[in-house]
Order: sequence, then structure tokens, then C-alpha cells
Amino acid sequence: MSTASASSVLLPTYARAPIALERGEGAWAITADGTRYLDFGAGIAVNSLGHAHPHLVEALTAQAQRIWHTSNLYTMPEGEKLARRLCEATFAERVFFTNSGAEANECAIKMARKYHAAKGHPERFRVVTFEGAFHGRTLATIAAGGQQKYIDGFGPKVDGFDQVPFDDEAALKAAIGPETAALMIEPIQGEGGLRSVPMRVLKQLRELCDEHGLMLIFDEIQTGVGRTGKFFAYEHSGVAPDIMSIAKGIGGGFPMGACLATEEAASGMTLGTHGTTFGGNPLAMAVGNAVLDVILAQGFLDHVQKTALRLRQSLAQLKDQHPQVIEEIRGEGLMLGLKLKTPNTDFVAQARAAGLLVVAAGDNVVRLLPPLIIGESEVAEAVARLDKAAGAVEAELARPAAE
Ligand SMILES: *Cc1c(COP(=O)(O)O)cnc(C)c1O
Repeated sequence: MSTASASSVLLPTYARAPIALERGEGAWAITADGTRYLDFGAGIAVNSLGHAHPHLVEALTAQAQRIWHTSNLYTMPEGEKLARRLCEATFAERVFFTNSGAEANECAIKMARKYHAAKGHPERFRVVTFEGAFHGRTLATIAAGGQQKYIDGFGPKVDGFDQVPFDDEAALKAAIGPETAALMIEPIQGEGGLRSVPMRVLKQLRELCDEHGLMLIFDEIQTGVGRTGKFFAYEHSGVAPDIMSIAKGIGGGFPMGACLATEEAASGMTLGTHGTTFGGNPLAMAVGNAVLDVILAQGFLDHVQKTALRLRQSLAQLKDQHPQVIEEIRGEGLMLGLKLKTPNTDFVAQARAAGLLVVAAGDNVVRLLPPLIIGESEVAEAVARLDKAAGAVEAELARPAAE
């Protein structure tokens, strides 16, 4: 079954919803005919400050008047500035800018391998990853994510990734050998269904990395940049990675990502070892700096935490009101999931019919990833629309099975 228009010449790799969003205002996305959707998907955690945020529009248009692209052959003052700010606000000391999340992970994986190679251990190239992970769609990152449906048919799986169950200490220890270079994990699995890695597990990963001289890589592409109520999700756990990939929210809708690292972890990435044409492009850097102006402003993350608490409490009530539909509330901050008893894709469609955009995830979860700028009124409105969607799903359940 395809929802794509029969005349589309795009690859039919997406089951696209039959709506086209033409413009946006804050948490609202609007079609050409004026239908307004409350956007609790935010382009899959990308529009961190909502649509058409004045500060971002101003930064992008001002940069567009100056220069669009120069390449990494020249010094990039806006990029230097953004990198410095990211380092000041995190564990990191080195930054490489990319265009996407998958490329940020490619950089992270290459960096971990090169670290060991430069220290005289090129045999240490394997990366341990976790079941249910999602790290992107390049050849290496589908191998890292380990999901068969993304790997099948694309030739031999890229070597060097060993996957273990999500919370299985014995399997993890058994997977670490003389060829292991790194452990790679999302602090909260996004695509995998909003599964949070327990803090004790993150601490244990750090200990194992220290014990075996491994790089700890956190994929914070979805969890980062304020999404969980901290600048980065690792801050909740008190342990820091050696390497971290970011993307999605840092661009606020402009395509960009970055690989952050300690100086030590980055020590193998010397002149000529890696590169990109578009990464660190002036337009992206201007927007990235503008995003940080807002997210790192005094009180902003407190606001995210307060809003998140309110939303979570309302969702807990909603779960009690719809026990046939909602099984569990998951996640952290404004990265929340409804684990359902009924098919998540039906729920997403019912929510859309009720004027609310949400995103399906693995493990039959519906993700709520609203822009971080939402307030009380958007929370109340979203919960009312979720209530309506859950009611519609229940009505379907009550109907006799015959079509
Ligand atoms: C979205 C995502 C990616 C891939 O990012 P792209 O920009 O689509 O390449 C990787 N890891 C995580 C955790 C993500 O959420």
C-alpha cells in the first residue's frame, strides 16, 4: 500500500503522510489550505526552537546576504566560534562539523579506529553496539545499528561491529576483545522506541572503557541540544564520553551535525585524515550559533524541564484514561514516548486527524518530540488532541471486525 502520489518520481522509500506543510509558526505547521497542525514531531527532533524562530530567521538571512559557502580550504570564523562554544558547554575539546547525523557517526567511528591505529594498534577497529540502536543509513552506520531490515540487500555488512543486548553485562564483557576499539550507544534510544539506558549501565560502560582503553562514543543526535532538559543527555548520568555525535536539534532545521571529542580521543585525526565539502558551511554555522544563543540562555533549560514535567504528568493521566491503548510512558524531558497496546501507526494517523503531528518509533511507540519552546497552552492542546486520538482508536477497537 502506498500513500505516495502515482506521479511522484521520488524513490518510494517513505510512507509519506498525504499532507504538505507549507509554512510554520512556532509549534504550529500549516498546509497550503490553512489547516493547522500542532507539531509534536518537530521534523523528528530537528526543529528544536519550532518553526520560523525570529532569531534563527535573522541569523540565516543575515548570513545569506554575506557569503553562503567558502569550503574548508579557508578559516571559518563562525565555525571556530560555534566549536568553541560547544566545547565550553560540554566535555569536548575538539569538533568536526558534518552535514548530518550519520556523517557525525562516521567521523566518530573513524576517530575511534584511528586513535588506536595511531597508537600502534591498527588491529583495534571493532565497535560494540547495542540491540535496538539506530545510528544512521550509511553503509557503516547500518552495520553499527545492526537492524536487519536496513542491512538486507546492500551487500556484505561492513565489518567491525559487534552487537550485544541492551542491558546484558555478561554479553557486553564477552564482546570486548583485543580488537575492540570502542563502545557506541544512544543514552536514550530514539528510533528504537524511547528506551533509556539506565544510569548504572552508562557508568558501567565508562568503567569498562577505562579498564580496557576503549573509546566511549555517545550518539546524542536525537537526545542532544536540550531535548532531555539538559544540554546533553549524558549530563543526567554524571559520566562523559570520549566522543559524541550530534546533529538534528543543533541546526534547528538547517542540515548540520558535529562530532565532538576530547583532545586525546581526537589525537589520531591529523592533517588530511578526514574531510567534507559542506560540513561547517557558513549558513549552518550561523544557524548553529543562533540555536545556542537561545538554548544556552539563562533559564531556557529550566523552562524545558518544567514543561516536560507538566507534559509527563498529563500523559500519565491520559494513560489512566485510556488503558486499552496506552501501556506505558517513556523517555526524558521533551523526548517522550507512548508505548501502545494498539498499532502505533494507526495512532499517529488518528493524532494527525485530530491536528497533532507525532512520530512512530520501534517497539510500538509513539514519540512526542515537541519544539523546546512550547509552553503550558501547547501542552494542554497536545494532550487534548492525544485524548481525541486515543478515543478514536478505542472506537475502532469497539467496532465489529468486518470492514
Ligand atoms: C537521526 C539519527 C541518526 C541519523 O541522523 P541523519 O541526520 O538522518 O543521518 C543517527 N543516530 C540517531 C540517534 C538519530 O536519532
